[in-house]
Amino acid sequence: MRLQSPSGDLREVSLAAGARLGFAVADHGRFCLGHYKVHSASSRDHVLCPARAPAVKGKQCERCFVLDDSRLIHDFHRGGRVPDGLRTYLLQDHWLYVATFAGGASKVGTASHLRKWNRLAEQGAVVARYVARAEDGRVVRLLEDMVTREAGLAQQVRSAAKAEALAGPLPAAALDGINERHAAAVRTLLGQAAVDGSSPEGFSIVDELWVRPAQAAGLCATTARHAYTHPLEQGKHGFGITALSGSNALASLAGTDAAFVVNLGRLAARTIVLGDFASEVPAVQEPLF
Ligand SMILES: [Zn+2]
Repeated sequence: MRLQSPSGDLREVSLAAGARLGFAVADHGRFCLGHYKVHSASSRDHVLCPARAPAVKGKQCERCFVLDDSRLIHDFHRGGRVPDGLRTYLLQDHWLYVATFAGGASKVGTASHLRKWNRLAEQGAVVARYVARAEDGRVVRLLEDMVTREAGLAQQVRSAAKAEALAGPLPAAALDGINERHAAAVRTLLGQAAVDGSSPEGFSIVDELWVRPAQAAGLCATTARHAYTHPLEQGKHGFGITALSGSNALASLAGTDAAFVVNLGRLAARTIVLGDFASEVPAVQEPLF
């Protein structure tokens, strides 16, 4: 987890298995995290918000939202103009993938070549397959839109839905089957579109399984766990980390053997003070059978 001090210094806190995380949340809303300037495929700068303004567009103020290069990525394939650095970034190879989350919800998405693996790890995919390699970020997004249109696969799965699903994940074999079927359908669609000329040129169909990070195993298993019902936007919290999938942690609390799913993504852009705090054990209803 990356923390930014009010003066802009960045600090990383380990969320490896066995780590403890304790913090108090300042109860004054979300503040802008600044924006990114993209220079090339591998180089980008994080620019702090000069006004340290309240966040009104997700994790950003209006000004930083408008200045953020990543906002333009989504218009490039529709003919939108982009700065030179971002153009260089978009001209690298990109991957089209199908990701499936803990409850079976699936999506189609894209990753630049250098972020081929990380992108899926950050999103907390449980199973994913790469289905095509495209020559740039324009072709891959045209394919992504075509898959959504023709195969009905969404491009987003909400963060709250991922967290809810992790409270009762489907068995691994079932999720793998769901992902396999979606990926096969997309490859068939891409193959037909290449033949009848309805797809852009500049891609090849691939069949490659994404390797899930080892630290996610405990969250993706079907062991008993509960949703963490304390609101993370306020109050004091403290727990041990036993597994991590995307922004969700499997947490152990003092005073109980039960495990809890905590969506740490809800802390984004909030102000916290680290400290030796301990969460109260939420009231849980044990399954009756
Ligand atoms: Zn800002």
